[in-house]
Amino acid sequence: MRVQCAWCEEEKAVQTTNTAFWELPDGTRSIEITDVPCVSCSACGISYQEEEVIEEIETQLLLIDTKILSVTTSYDELLKMPRLLKRNYFKF
Ligand SMILES: [Zn+2]
Repeated sequence: MRVQCAWCEEEKAVQTTNTAFWELPDGTRSIEITDVPCVSCSACGISYQEEEVIEEIETQLLLIDTKILSVTTSYDELLKMPRLLKRNYFKF
């Protein structure tokens, strides 16, 4: 499926996956997330995550126990991690 690149606006971008480095919401460390859906553009050479994917990852990182995250995790694994109960959200 071809999509329009958000950077150069060429319709030569494709949906693919890549590896993204993500800083945890508490800023303590960064993790590597593999197989993240992304848009890759052959015209300008950029690969970027779409807004909804970014939001999905950010939300998940806020709701899971990031202490048990390994340095490298796949996108699917990350989204399958059990979310903490909301009432525990602000307890540290
Ligand atoms: Zn482009």
